[in-house]
Order: sequence, then structure tokens, then C-alpha cells
Amino acid sequence: MKRIGIVGNGVASITTIRELRKHDSDIPIDVFSDESYPYYPRPKLIDVVSGEVSKEEIIQFDASWYEKQNVTLRLSEPVTEIIPDSKTILTTMDTYFNYYKILIATGSHPFIPPIHGIEKKRVHVVRTLDDAISVRDDVKGKGREIIVGGGILGIELAAAMRKIGGSPIVISNIHQLLPAQLDAGASDFLIHRLEKMGITIYLGFTCAEISGADHATGVVSTTGDKIKGDNVVIATGVRPNVTLAVSSGIETDKGIIVDEHMQTSVKGVYSAGDCTEWKGVCWGIIPVALDTARCAAKNILNHGSDTYTGTTPSNTLKVANIELTSIGLYNVTSPEYRSIISANEEKGTYFKAVLQDDTFVGGIALGDRKVAMNMRRAISQHLQITDPTKQLFEQ
Ligand SMILES: Cc1cc2nc3c(=O)[nH]c(=O)nc-3n(C[C@H](O)[C@H](O)[C@H](O)COP(=O)(O)OP(=O)(O)OC[C@H]3O[C@@H](n4cnc5c(N)ncnc54)[C@H](O)[C@@H]3O)c2cc1C
Repeated sequence: MKRIGIVGNGVASITTIRELRKHDSDIPIDVFSDESYPYYPRPKLIDVVSGEVSKEEIIQFDASWYEKQNVTLRLSEPVTEIIPDSKTILTTMDTYFNYYKILIATGSHPFIPPIHGIEKKRVHVVRTLDDAISVRDDVKGKGREIIVGGGILGIELAAAMRKIGGSPIVISNIHQLLPAQLDAGASDFLIHRLEKMGITIYLGFTCAEISGADHATGVVSTTGDKIKGDNVVIATGVRPNVTLAVSSGIETDKGIIVDEHMQTSVKGVYSAGDCTEWKGVCWGIIPVALDTARCAAKNILNHGSDTYTGTTPSNTLKVANIELTSIGLYNVTSPEYRSIISANEEKGTYFKAVLQDDTFVGGIALGDRKVAMNMRRAISQHLQITDPTKQLFEQ
């Protein structure tokens, strides 16, 4: 009997299962996860750190969901190799033969820059539920938490720590926050608002060392500057999990290389989510995981039935009343694009629209959800925008 094997149990895996079940209610599916919990949404890990969501509450699909979907979930069973010819899956516990098709949805892992003393106690990353529980247990909200990295994760963690009474400091090696989502003007705006919330921002500090004997007592920069702290959280980006693909002889570069049908270099083995590389680019965001997973599912059942054409990247940061969305091409400088900016310090809003021949191609909406929605609609409908202030920025 035909079976489908899925490696990984994140949002790409879950979305693939749901899409498969829309078209085929029978084909048995095996899911292998190296984690010990059934599905939980990673963005909610921030709420685990702040203590607002418990370990039990974060689980979105428990064992009964998998049963209903006719899915055999194998937890704490990492896959070590796939044998492409026979579609065999080798795990740390057993060997499973003769899959019809296999999906690799192994996600990504935190990137750790070269920092001396990274192995010390009270140095954390936040990727899994176990990581979030470990940070929550270590951060009692009394001391100073140092967050290395000024991206979305770093800022959201700082806000979570502030909620439990901590005094977080976010350090970044460059001179702005959210370099992947904001231009310099919007970054200054955001810094101002975060500092008002009691979050300290320290830019241009390249962390070279964690100080302390066996546990972290602070960080030291490449130029010898020191910041004292009780916990250090490293939030410096992610890298695709490609180890399994490499050991299975599947082509990789930065990520697992997939074609427009989400098929890897091996016929019948597909990939979706953070671990993939399509047209030379790896993302680490949910919208891409959803789109690639749906496409993979359709092609798993009927190869060639769906084609992935890309995802318009969008990011949303929701930190204590600061709504921030950046979408599409929001930070381009070449003369073919025109940027219109409207900033209001009193209201705490910063809007930017990028136009190419009167077509809205990207923008930033800081401080207002309605403007963000206007921008999403404009980009998805390729709207002609002659006056961004009237057509996009008016709330
Ligand atoms: C705290 C946090 C907040 C986030 N917030 C946002 C947000 O607001 N918006 C957004 O777009 N994105 C956000 N992200 C990123 C988002 O979570 C990822 O893009 C998404 O989880 C990717 O899904 P995935 O299924 O590809 O991979 P993952 O969710 O990483 O799942 C992959 C799973 O496969 C497992 N695995 C790996 N190798 C093996 C193996 N060999 N055998 C078995 N299992 C294996 C991994 O352990 C993991 O459980 C956030 C991430 C974090 C950590």
C-alpha cells in the first residue's frame, strides 16, 4: 500500500498534511519528529517566555488530531538518512521501507556567530518549546537580559522579558534594528518607541565573548566594551537544516534545492518550508512555509499539478501596541522606484510606499494596522497608486 513519509513536524509539515487530506482522505502518512511534542506554532514561543502561555496550552494539535488525519506521528525519532532509490527512511530507532513519496520539512536552526564562551550556562537560543521553557525558567524578571540580535525575534523576546519585569538590552552589530524589514528611518522610529517601553537598544556592538566562569555574567565586544547581564539570548538569524539531505545525497546549497514543483534533486522526494532553497533564496518565514507546503502536497499526489511562483515576503512585528508590517520591495534605491514617506512622531506612525510606474511594489507600515492592510491589498491586486497619502496612508 502507498505511504507518504514526512520528516519534520513544523508548520510546513502540518500544512502539507492538511492539503494532502483535501485531495486524498486515505493515503497513510508517517511523520517523524526529533522533538517530543506534537505540533505547536513557533511564534507562540514568545508567550511561553513571557509566561502567558503554558507548555500544555501552546500545543495546537494533540495526538487525536493526527489520529483523525490517519497520520502516524513518531515523536523523538530523528531521521538520520533517506535512501533515495528505495524511498527508505532510516531513523535513530528503526528502518521504514518503500515510501511512495517523501517530504523533507526539517526547518531551520539558530545561527550562532563565532562567540567565545557560547557554551556557558544561562546562554540561550529560542527555536523550540524546550528552549522557550529553559529561558522562562532562567529569566526571573529581576536581572538584566542581554539579547544579541536586533531582528524580529530579538525585539519580541525583549518585549516578553519586559512583561515579566526584566530589564532587557538588545545589542546589534549594525547601526539599525530589523535590517531585513526596515529602512534606517523606520528603525529610528522603532528604537524610540522601544526605549519608551523600557527596552534598551545598543547598536554597533559586535559580541565576541560571553563573560563569566561557568555561567554568563555579560558580554564583551570585539573592541573590548563590556555589558553586564544575568542571561544572554542569541537571536542572530537562522540557517536551513540540510544535514539529512546532505547525508542522503540530495542536492543542497544554502538550503535543500527544489524546483518549481518543490521536488528535490531526487525524483519523488520533495521539500517545503524553512529548509528549502528556491531560485537561490532561502526564507525563514511562515508565509513561504505555507505556500511551499501546499505546492509540495499537490505535486506529491499528482506531480506537475502545481507550480510554485514565489511568495511576496511580509513580516509582522507585534510588540506591545507597536504594529509593524513590511511588505515587498520596501528598501530599494534604484531610480526606477519612487519612495513616499509619511512620519508622525506624535502619533508614532511611519509609512513608506515604494512605487514603480505608479504600481505599489512594497512598503512599511509602522504603528497602524489599517495602513498595513491597505498595503497588502494594493500589492496583491497590483493596484495603481497615484497618491499614496490618500490611497494608502489614510487610516
Ligand atoms: C520564536 C519564533 C517566533 C517566530 N515568529 C514568526 C512570525 O511571527 N512570523 C513568521 O513568518 N515566522 C516566524 N517564525 C519563523 C517560523 O516559525 C518558521 O518560518 C516556521 O516555523 C518554519 O516552518 P517549518 O515547518 O519549515 O520548520 P520548523 O518549524 O523549524 O519545523 C521543522 C521541524 O523538523 C524537525 N527536524 C529537523 N531535522 C529533523 C530530522 N532529521 N528528523 C526529524 N525531525 C527533524 C525540527 O526539529 C522541527 O521540529 C518564528 C520563529 C520562532 C522560533
